[in-house]
Amino acid sequence: MLKLFKSSRCQSCYTERAIRVCPRKRKNICWQCCNETRCDTRCPENCDYAPQKEESKPFPSFKADSRAEAENAIKCHIDLWMGRENPFLKNKTPAKEASENPQEMLAWLSGFQYPVYFPMDYLLKKLDLPFTPAEKKEDPEDCVEKWMKTLIQLKWNELRQYSINQSSMEDLAERYTELIQAIPQLGKVSTYSILYSGLGEDGISALVYMELNHKIDWTLVLSNITGSWKIRQNIAGSPQAYFKQNQIYTAIAEALGKADDAKVWELINSSLKIYPDSPDLYYYRALYWQLVKQREQAAVDFFNAIALDNSWTEPYLHLSAHYFVKGDYEQAKIWLEELKILQPDDPNVLNNLAAAYAGNGETEKAKELWQEIVQKYPAFEYARKNLEKLQ
Ligand SMILES: [Zn+2]
Ligand SMILES: [Zn+2]
Repeated sequence: MLKLFKSSRCQSCYTERAIRVCPRKRKNICWQCCNETRCDTRCPENCDYAPQKEESKPFPSFKADSRAEAENAIKCHIDLWMGRENPFLKNKTPAKEASENPQEMLAWLSGFQYPVYFPMDYLLKKLDLPFTPAEKKEDPEDCVEKWMKTLIQLKWNELRQYSINQSSMEDLAERYTELIQAIPQLGKVSTYSILYSGLGEDGISALVYMELNHKIDWTLVLSNITGSWKIRQNIAGSPQAYFKQNQIYTAIAEALGKADDAKVWELINSSLKIYPDSPDLYYYRALYWQLVKQREQAAVDFFNAIALDNSWTEPYLHLSAHYFVKGDYEQAKIWLEELKILQPDDPNVLNNLAAAYAGNGETEKAKELWQEIVQKYPAFEYARKNLEKLQ
């Protein structure tokens, strides 16, 4: 993937992160400087990032580590291409041809296929040709751009809409914002530069690796579950940290299994610095609190886990169980109703919800729900028994 050098700055602009060796400049450079150099298509062929010309196509292709880079590369190239004599156009420049024969130029350009990131609007604007914007499907980097711009403006309350968390529960929205706002690095972001972005093999997950403020490594994990890309997780590090994550969770689960509370605590605290909005870590911390018999603290962390991943069912179960034990059926009911939205066909969830209704004195609602369960899931014994008890 990316090269990481001893000295991280680009030896050409001294600002951006150096991520590749340029055989032409004989320096370690950033992708922005690489684009400014290679856009003239005169790079030595032994460079992986040398533009690839294709006989029949008007534009070369540029290998890139992100869409931001690919788009920038072709824009740099278009700027030069405009004024260069073009063999496709009887050696006239595209700028001249577009002004003399706009219809023909447009017809010629539309005879080719372009990659999705190709900045057609930019090209046509440059050529002063008419452009009808097409509906563009957002990619992970579009979502990251919105997230980062909102963050730079410190509009904390507006961040959640770009996250996977879409539950309409007011409390969850508030807590999400509080947890994100508590991540120390995020309060001081003034610039970000995308170094790498890539899709997961499943096609519905993506990683975008950035440098914040020209010095901090930051990775955003995205998911596309409902047809649009959303932020799932912040990672204070490179994508390598993302791939290490499961290993760490396994270690925590093992320590929990051995009731080694000191080790669990240490692992969770050190991991939260790297995975500051990981619902798993808050969930494990809730289990830690249970281990050391701090039930109220556990409830807070189950709630935090839900706030960080509204569709993860496990912490809902724990939180509702917590309120059941306390005899707070009103709260148990609230969380089970949310869980029912996620798991409408789970007789256990429905049975617990009916019990919460009963505990809360809502006997009619309890009865109705138990009857419904008995009808739908005749093999589910608990509902039948509970119904008999009620009658
Ligand atoms: Zn540079
Ligand atoms: Zn090169």
